[in-house]
Amino acid sequence: MIRVTVWNEFYNPHSPTQPELAVYPEGIHEAIASFLRADPSIEARTATLMQPEHGLTEEVLEQTDVLLWWGHITHHMVADEVVERVHKHILAGMGLIVLHSGHASKIFHKLMGTRTVDLRWHEDGLLNRVWVIDPAHPIAEGLDDHFDIPHEETYGEHFDIPTPDQLVFVSWFPSGEVFRSGCCWHRGFGRIFFFQPGHETLPSFYNENVQRVINNAVRWAYRPKRGAYITGETKAL
Ligand code: ZN
Repeated sequence: MIRVTVWNEFYNPHSPTQPELAVYPEGIHEAIASFLRADPSIEARTATLMQPEHGLTEEVLEQTDVLLWWGHITHHMVADEVVERVHKHILAGMGLIVLHSGHASKIFHKLMGTRTVDLRWHEDGLLNRVWVIDPAHPIAEGLDDHFDIPHEETYGEHFDIPTPDQLVFVSWFPSGEVFRSGCCWHRGFGRIFFFQPGHETLPSFYNENVQRVINNAVRWAYRPKRGAYITGETKAL
């Protein structure tokens, strides 16, 4: 079994102004966890910002093979101590999948190490055409040469990230932008994947190709156990 934790800020979920609930009545985290649970080899739980330690205790992280991260307006409210803890687990081999506006999270910034990790964006629900540019990559398994998401927020270059170790998808939008929308990195023993779709007022997490990519990414990011490097002064072999 691959043990997945889906983290969502899910801030103020009972407010009528919470736009996410109109599309995802149980929240984005439950929508993602529920399609992952349809896969008998995945065990998915959820965690949210307002839980003690944001639901990401040492115990939860020890039992998480792959962590998914969605956030938008509360990145600054995530405690540094929790970010440090998540970072330590990623370097030891926990996978991380960062979705959409999760690009602005503290954990993604810490892993990327660039100045802003920012991008160009406009919110008008245009078509999002996702081109598969590495068809042999495991995250592209089962996809055609491209797929369309009828309405998404537009993300565009420049995306202030280090050059990805593997680039799986590039998105195109009718307003002319292109965007590196599926990016892989390795940090320590951990595998990290960023995937662009997933604006909170649009139903992209119900899209079967988006679901397939996230499912594939969970498998790609999974490592059966944590690792540790041997460094420092050692006996001559
Ligand atoms: Zn958005």
